[in-house]
Amino acid sequence: MTKPFSIAIHGGAGVMPRRDMTPEREAGYNVALSRALEPGKAVLSRGGSALDAVTGAVAALEDEPLFNAGRGAVFTREGNQEMDAAIMDGRDRSAGAVAGVSTIRNPIHAARAVMERTEHVLMIGAGAVAIAREAGLVFEDDRYFFTRDRWEALQDTLRMEASGTLDDDPSRRHGTVGAVARDRQGNLAAATSTGGMTAKRSGRVGDSPIIGAGTFADNATCAVSATGDGEAFMRLLVAHEIDARMRLAAATLVQAATAVVMSDLGVIGGSGGLIAVAGDGSMVLPFNSDGMYRAWCIEGRDPETAIY
Ligand code: ASP
Repeated sequence: MTKPFSIAIHGGAGVMPRRDMTPEREAGYNVALSRALEPGKAVLSRGGSALDAVTGAVAALEDEPLFNAGRGAVFTREGNQEMDAAIMDGRDRSAGAVAGVSTIRNPIHAARAVMERTEHVLMIGAGAVAIAREAGLVFEDDRYFFTRDRWEALQDTLRMEASGTLDDDPSRRHGTVGAVARDRQGNLAAATSTGGMTAKRSGRVGDSPIIGAGTFADNATCAVSATGDGEAFMRLLVAHEIDARMRLAAATLVQAATAVVMSDLGVIGGSGGLIAVAGDGSMVLPFNSDGMYRAWCIEGRDPETAIY
C-alpha cells in the first residue's frame, strides 16, 4: 500500500528582522518558497522518489537569488563565493557532498554526482569540480552568482568589524537552503546547499555538507536538513543526534528535534533551525532564531509557507 508523501523545504534561518520586513518583501519570499516547493511536489505526486524530490527542490532554491545557495550565495572575506552541499538517501544511507566549490550552477547536483559516480562521500575544491564536469553539469561565471545585496552585506560586515560595531543581523550573516521528503514508498531523503557565512575565511566549511551535522537521512528514523550557526551544528552533530535519540532512546521526531534545537543548541550559543520528516510522514520545523524561511506539504493538503 502506498503512503501519502510529505515534503518540507527551507530557505535558511538567516531571516530579515521583522522591523525590516515589508509586506512586499514578505510576499516575495513566500512566492519564492512556493515556487521552489513545486518541483519536489511534482516528483512525489507522480510517484517519484524522495531523493529526486529533494534534489529538484534544492536545485530550485539554488536558482533563486533571494536565498544563500547557488545564485545569491554569500561572499568570503576575499570577495569569493565558496559553496557547500550534501544529499543523503534514507534507503541505504548513501550520501554525497561537496565543499568549497564555485562555478557549479547547482552544487546539489555535484553532491549527487559524488554519491552516484564515486566511492567517496565528501569532495572539496578542484576534485569536486572535476566530478561535476564528468557528470556534464552546468557551469556559470561569477556574474551569474553575484547579487548586489550579498555584496553589500559583505562590505557592511567588513566595515562593522573594522569599527567594532558588528551586530548579529542574521539576514546579513548567513542562510542556507534545504529539503526533506518522504515518498509514497515510505523512503526518506535530505538535501542541503549553502554559500555559508558572510565574510567567512576562505576554506571554511560549515555543517551543511557534513553528514550527520547539517544533513542526514535514514528510513528507520528521519531525514533532516539544518540551517544556522554551522560551527554549533557541527559540534552537536545535530542531525545525527536527532536520529540517535529516535533509534536508541525511542524518542519521537518531535521530541528529539525540539529538544536538540530548543534546548541543546542554545546551551552552546547556536542559533538556527531545521526541517525534518520521520518514517511515518510526520514533519517538524523547529527554530530558535527569529524565523526560518520554510514551506511544506503533505499529500492531499494545501502547501503552506511561513517565515516567523
Ligand atoms: N549552516 C550554514 C553554514 O554554517 C549557514 C546557515 O545555515 O545559515 O554554513
